[in-house]
Amino acid sequence: MASAPQPAKKSYFFGKGYLDVLNTIKGAWSRNFDSIRGFKDKIVDAKYIGGKTFFFKLILYVLAMVSVIVFGSIITAIVSAINIAIVLAVMVVIYIGFSIIWLTDRIYLMHNKIFTACHECKEKSLIPTYICPKCGAKHTNLTPGVYGILKRTCVGEDPNSYCGEQLPTTFFNGRRNLEAICPHCETPLSDRESVPICIPIVGGRSVGKTAFITAFSKEFFDEVAPAKAWETEFYNAAKEGI
Ligand SMILES: [Zn+2]
Ligand SMILES: [Zn+2]
Repeated sequence: MASAPQPAKKSYFFGKGYLDVLNTIKGAWSRNFDSIRGFKDKIVDAKYIGGKTFFFKLILYVLAMVSVIVFGSIITAIVSAINIAIVLAVMVVIYIGFSIIWLTDRIYLMHNKIFTACHECKEKSLIPTYICPKCGAKHTNLTPGVYGILKRTCVGEDPNSYCGEQLPTTFFNGRRNLEAICPHCETPLSDRESVPICIPIVGGRSVGKTAFITAFSKEFFDEVAPAKAWETEFYNAAKEGI
């Protein structure tokens, strides 16, 4: 599942979550130490009070400081541990969640022999590079992961502008409807996540392979496909022109 960084927002628990937990724990400990320091200052100042109350106050402050050192630290440690445990538990749940969906997506593609074959460089890819419809950012690994389980939020490739588009990350919620390019040569792909049927045409030079293909295509487009109510579509305008 490891792959190049994507132009998308990481899930809270895998990105900003760490920092928040760290800051919360830091804050709790610093408040604990502030409180200890406060009593220390009061003990130091107590000697200026003098009189009968001096001894009484000194004992009171020492007891208070000891209790903060002991109980304050214990409570802070427990709260810190609970905080870390909760975040870890949520991370594990999210991890399991996207792993299951990721696996489902992979098994579906492999089981149905779905892949994307580039019609220019002939390279095959299981998941092509998908293009964000709003900002054009290239998502090289649009699958469930730390950027999102079923959807991810595109942040765009330009650090100065935020995209915010929600992109589906699986076959069953519309990923294949996004524009895609070949991961190897960046040619725009018209078919993706489908089952390619390759028909080799073998023959010597100038024996009429192209004429055969053209005749077959015409017959297929004009007669066979409409009779079966199949939808047909050309790769691109250039191929349509031939
Ligand atoms: Zn290609
Ligand atoms: Zn975008």
